[in-house]
Amino acid sequence: MQHFPVFVDLRGQRVVIAGTGETALAKLRLVLRTEACITVCGADPHPLIAALADEGRLRLVERAIGPGDADGARLFYAASGDPREDARAAGIGREAGALVNIVDNLSASQFITPALVDRDPVTIAIGTEGTAPVLARRIKADLEERLAGDLGPLARIAGTFRQRLDPFPGGAVRRDFWTRFFEDAGPRALRDGGEAAALQALEELVESTDWQAKTEGRVAIIGAGPGDAELLTLKARRLLHEADIVIHDRLVSHEVLELARREAVRVEVGKTPFGASWSQDDINRLIVDHARDGAFVVRLKSGDPAIFGRLDEEMDALDTAGIAFEIVPGITSAMAAAASARVSLTRRRRNSGIRILTGHDIDGLAEHDWRELAKPGAVACIYMGVRAARFLQGRLLLFGASPATPLAVVENASRADEAIVSTTLAELPHAIADKGITGPAIIFLGLSPRRAVSEVETCRNRFAEGVQ
Ligand code: SAH
Repeated sequence: MQHFPVFVDLRGQRVVIAGTGETALAKLRLVLRTEACITVCGADPHPLIAALADEGRLRLVERAIGPGDADGARLFYAASGDPREDARAAGIGREAGALVNIVDNLSASQFITPALVDRDPVTIAIGTEGTAPVLARRIKADLEERLAGDLGPLARIAGTFRQRLDPFPGGAVRRDFWTRFFEDAGPRALRDGGEAAALQALEELVESTDWQAKTEGRVAIIGAGPGDAELLTLKARRLLHEADIVIHDRLVSHEVLELARREAVRVEVGKTPFGASWSQDDINRLIVDHARDGAFVVRLKSGDPAIFGRLDEEMDALDTAGIAFEIVPGITSAMAAAASARVSLTRRRRNSGIRILTGHDIDGLAEHDWRELAKPGAVACIYMGVRAARFLQGRLLLFGASPATPLAVVENASRADEAIVSTTLAELPHAIADKGITGPAIIFLGLSPRRAVSEVETCRNRFAEGVQ
């Protein structure tokens, strides 16, 4: 992020716009929404600018800007539309110590103005680092459509009421209070009886809320999917927005964690393969303790919680503590890997079932029904198999599998650094070492990627090929 979004208090502050044509007018329209003291400099002003000056909404200096005209300004727009004049004007703005924007000159500007969705006092600023104004406008149009027009009045009414809540406890009870107002009582009262009724509704809500109520802690064990945040379920996304604390595994992607409520505490209880990690008992205790304190705990697990996710241990701990929980399934990595490699996991006359296996279990390298797995046409999705590759190969060959049995390895499925390797049983350990597969990966026994790829192939490359 090159440009950091902030909201600057412009009440009573000077904003200077150098330019009096259409370009200047466009910026002026935005700045006029604030309580800034605006000065516009330039000869031959647009009639609307002149009219605004007559109304006293701005000060108009009807000549080209000169030294001293921008003194004390906080923001400065060079908006004449003429690059040379803008460069000269910008020098005056910088000299005066203002932050300078030159319209349509990103690299020479110290700040840029975002696209705005204005439901004052709710303001949404949309920026694309100046790269895609068209996209910003589309997002703006989307949001304008989606956000109810009554959002502004409701937020304003809530703002006048905040002090009234000072004597009452904060935390979850207060959050519930505001949720009930914004999602139900507020819009209804505003519709039926205007702002006075909405204020009245707030008073009634204060009376009817049990401020001393101890909120019941609860837990949601949620599948975060393989990495791509778009593969989350809608339910997972909603609950992440509500979480007080998010306890997550190492493999949960940054993208998904970003969707958690901003105030939510995040704790990584990573279990690195063969590395230092939290003990399962400590994780259980963490979940139970926070839920007992009344928090909404989201336990976020990569992929699906029910697949190699130690779900039972955590459910047992919650049951023992008498804490309510729900489970939200997620897309397990094998499903995402199959989509990436474009393979079907079942096919008529090839395999009528699949196995989901782990390369490692609690005792180390995991034993399986090798005789069945070695049969032609057998398909298995092998989790945690990279370090067990040589062992898997040895066992399968020992039980009669053909060295030519196809295998696909999908590393970092659904992530930007995804890699897909096509190999055979004879080559498996060599292919893994050769292609430098070290991240989380699924090994598909009995499947080739749809397009035979001999090289590690990243999503990005594939995309680039696709669009050329
Ligand atoms: N509950 C998870 C599995 C956790 S076990 C799920 O349903 O996917 C951890 C193993 O999952 C890793 O060793 C790897 O085999 C697999 N894995 C997790 N994320 C992956 C990803 N993005 N791509 C490929 N494999 C992944």
